[in-house]
Amino acid sequence: MSQVLFYFRNALLVFALFLSGCASLILDNDLDNPPPPDFPKLTVVEHYVTQKEINDRCNNDGKYALIHACTEVDFERMVADIWFDKDSPPPKSLIKHELEHSRGHDHFGDSVIRDAWENFKRSKRGDLPDGRSP
Ligand SMILES: [Zn+2]
Repeated sequence: MSQVLFYFRNALLVFALFLSGCASLILDNDLDNPPPPDFPKLTVVEHYVTQKEINDRCNNDGKYALIHACTEVDFERMVADIWFDKDSPPPKSLIKHELEHSRGHDHFGDSVIRDAWENFKRSKRGDLPDGRSP
């Protein structure tokens, strides 16, 4: 892949979180939000699938034109499933970005993972029947 094409593709990278519909262009400082102090250590499982599967899984509201990866956090299983495009090997920056999500980091200005963790804990205490947002 030429450098020009690589940078063009990088510019189109959009990431989503399962629990949120949140997405953002990748930035080195995009995950500045610290994780919740009691965020659990999740087992990370990396999957390499087709672009269509990523889009179906990560972009189910059709909000974004192109998604190359996303992280699904499942607190019931204590697993973070990370989905990458098998036809476009992820750059190290993208792998690092998704691993940070699995450790509880939200995008800057966002609280999707934090909110999901808080809702999960409340659901376990019986405050919410199924972890829904209030
Ligand atoms: Zn992200």
